[in-house]
Amino acid sequence: MSLLVLKFGGTSVGDVERIKNAAAKVEAEVRRGHKVAVVVSAMAGVTDQLIGYCRSVSPHHSPREHDAVVSTGEQITAGLMAMALQQRGLNARSWQGWQVPLMTDSTHSKARIMDVKAESLLKRIQDGEVGVMAGFQGIAGDGSVTTLGRGGSDTSAVALAVALKADRCDIYTDVDGVYTTDPRIDSKASKIPHISYEEMLEMASRGAKVLQTRSVEMAMRYHMPVQVLSTFANAVGSDLPGTLVTDGDDTMEENMVTGIAYTRDQAKVTLVKVADRPGVAAAVFGPLARAGVNIDMIVQTAGDNNTTDITFTISKNDLDRAKQVLETERANIHYDHISASSGVVKISLIGGGMRSHAGVAATMFETLADKKINIHAIETSEIVLGVLIAEEYTELALRALHTAYGLDAK
Ligand code: ADP
Ligand code: ASP
Ligand code: MG
Repeated sequence: MSLLVLKFGGTSVGDVERIKNAAAKVEAEVRRGHKVAVVVSAMAGVTDQLIGYCRSVSPHHSPREHDAVVSTGEQITAGLMAMALQQRGLNARSWQGWQVPLMTDSTHSKARIMDVKAESLLKRIQDGEVGVMAGFQGIAGDGSVTTLGRGGSDTSAVALAVALKADRCDIYTDVDGVYTTDPRIDSKASKIPHISYEEMLEMASRGAKVLQTRSVEMAMRYHMPVQVLSTFANAVGSDLPGTLVTDGDDTMEENMVTGIAYTRDQAKVTLVKVADRPGVAAAVFGPLARAGVNIDMIVQTAGDNNTTDITFTISKNDLDRAKQVLETERANIHYDHISASSGVVKISLIGGGMRSHAGVAATMFETLADKKINIHAIETSEIVLGVLIAEEYTELALRALHTAYGLDAK
């Protein structure tokens, strides 16, 4: 007998029939003798609709009230799921974030989980009840309802699994596992049976939205096994048909490249002819950091006549703010002009085996050169190789690289 947390994403609870289908999976696990907690997302599209309501009342609405509204999608699903389970003869009860309580800080719309006080929930599970927790939401110290950021129900599920000391957290979604790249972009993508936390963390933070990055961080910190699997297949999680995300297995040879992710909505900014003197990087990036602009890649080109060009990438949403900051700081930085473009994408290769294989980068550059795709910036770390290219080449580059690294489904 195990204690399992089953999370159902938006598509998995997209309408009442699907909620009933998800309830059947929960029942199958309970009938096998497992203790089960369920975490649900809002029905597909509901969170977007709620955000739309907030925006149409006021573009600059209060963050507290924003969360009061957008957290309600999950509240509905939790109640409906508990009813569907009761209809199947199971003992079930819904739990809103504040009822658990799942405590967070007060950063509305991207709150961080501080503590999950799951004692009452656990007691009832041990007594044979199925606890259905609303994902995505929590409660701050001042009693306000908070939400955890888009895709946050994954993080709710892992946090609950950790608090309950569950044996595994199963994430039911609309694909049957983690793929070598987004299966919607490349039909040759293949399912990865087992991926390490470290690789999954890089995949998620570089755009593979199948798991929210913070859920992987948390699973890694507490060594919580996570499985990604399909809500549409007949099998349930105990049959282990999905992708298992766990600690790396030292006894196995790691792949040179395990997966490829992409991050759209990037912008590239170049400061042309910056005075080449000590302290210039601080003069550029200090004010940007203080304005809350997150910098990703940085490239400095060797210049002449005591000037240099500094290029960096940021999220497209931050572009206007970044330009404003740089204009304001013009006298401190000393540059000729700013050149900025937003039609760029970052493609990242991820693989634990990069540590021990040579030639990963050469293959990437040759493959892109072959397709006449220009590289604007390069980034490397222990298990990642990232390049910035024009957005229009996203699909072409992904597919070519997928083939070049031998990842195409057989
Ligand atoms: P849910 O609503 O269940 O949380 P999401 O839409 O958040 O589901 O995540 C599932 C989606 O993630 C898939 O439909 C797929 O398009 C996308 N995705 C992106 N990269 C990958 C990948 N490498 N493997 C699997 N799915 C991926
Ligand atoms: N409903 C929230 C969202 O759409 C949280 C989630 O589904 O994980 O982002
Ligand atoms: Mg999701």
